[in-house]
Amino acid sequence: MIAPVFTVDKPSPFIPVFAAPTVTFERGSGTELFDVDGKRYLDFLGGLAVIGLGHANPAITAAIAEQAATLMHVSNLFANPVAIEAAQMINALLHEATGLDGLTFFCNSGAEANEAALKLARKFGGRGRHAVVSAYGSFHGRTLAALAATGQPAKHEPFFPMPDGFRHVAFGDVDALRAAVDPSVGAILIETVQGEGGVVPSPPGYLRAIRDLCDERGMLMMVDEVQTGFGRTGRWFGFQHDDVVPDVVTMAKAMGNGFPVGAIWARTEIANAFVPGDHGSTFSANALACAVVKTVITEMRRIDGPGLAATHGAYLAEQLAAVPGVSFVRGKGLLLAAELEPAHDAKDVYHRLLDNGLVTNAVTATALRFAPPLTVSRAEIHEAVGILRTVLA
Ligand SMILES: *Cc1c(COP(=O)(O)O)cnc(C)c1O
Repeated sequence: MIAPVFTVDKPSPFIPVFAAPTVTFERGSGTELFDVDGKRYLDFLGGLAVIGLGHANPAITAAIAEQAATLMHVSNLFANPVAIEAAQMINALLHEATGLDGLTFFCNSGAEANEAALKLARKFGGRGRHAVVSAYGSFHGRTLAALAATGQPAKHEPFFPMPDGFRHVAFGDVDALRAAVDPSVGAILIETVQGEGGVVPSPPGYLRAIRDLCDERGMLMMVDEVQTGFGRTGRWFGFQHDDVVPDVVTMAKAMGNGFPVGAIWARTEIANAFVPGDHGSTFSANALACAVVKTVITEMRRIDGPGLAATHGAYLAEQLAAVPGVSFVRGKGLLLAAELEPAHDAKDVYHRLLDNGLVTNAVTATALRFAPPLTVSRAEIHEAVGILRTVLA
């Protein structure tokens, strides 16, 4: 196994919230990464489903350079044209997906997007309708409210007491959801595919049942598309596979292709529950971030990123499923998990894949996650699957 990057002689300068890394990456290009020793890797994790358009994408590099030389930030006391265009482009995407119009708030991460959604749900619902139901196994971020919505009790325990008004139900269980809803519940927050929870797609009919329940009880349907959005699952947004129309959509990860940016989109009449002073962020609508968002959307439309994810994803899933040692493959598009046969420990396989130049992650103790750039080639898929075949043999 590769030695840790940090040792007693070379201590880490970071607050120790992340497991000790074993590789230091210096540069990337497309699906490739290179470490500080010049060793080449295939990146089949994409920075945790962030790098949809490949590393060092020339269009994004150019957009950043140009915007940085023009205007980066003016505060929200003023408008800037780049942010207006980016918000219009996000609404155009969501309009195509829902037939509705909405408004956008830009933030800097997925957790912040969910934090804004949770606050919006409280403001829209009003006093006494503040509760939110989400699913066990979900992941919504690390800020206190997003953490409270996250359905992983072990992550709450060190930080008790959690903010009030959060309930969890088994993912995919409509009856449990119905039973958890009372008049204090104003919204349901759900992932269309649980990413961090193990790449678990919502079962057929589940999102539709949530939409119906929300309509019946006057609750908001809020989908967390932070990991699934921007083409990853083979559609622009994961909810499109189920033909449902959510009220609120949160996004981040791939929307900046590595530049830290997130957003919440909400149907106009819901978004207008917020009034000036209710929410904000110094960096909201930052011109540099919005120039990246514009370029990501333009490039993803140009190359049909969602179409590539669907085609390459189906091919990768088929190839992975044929590898001895893989028991089955789940996921959607290019967000996949390979469940390993019991003889294999996913963490151990992850380290051996890394040794052999393939970046993945052990999303559970028994499964590897694959989320390469949507621009991955067939040759790269063959190479990656070949490495997995060798390691599992
Ligand atoms: C990654 C993730 C988040 C948190 O995003 P950050 O940018 O890390 O705050 C929230 N929801 C989902 C579904 C995610 O995958």
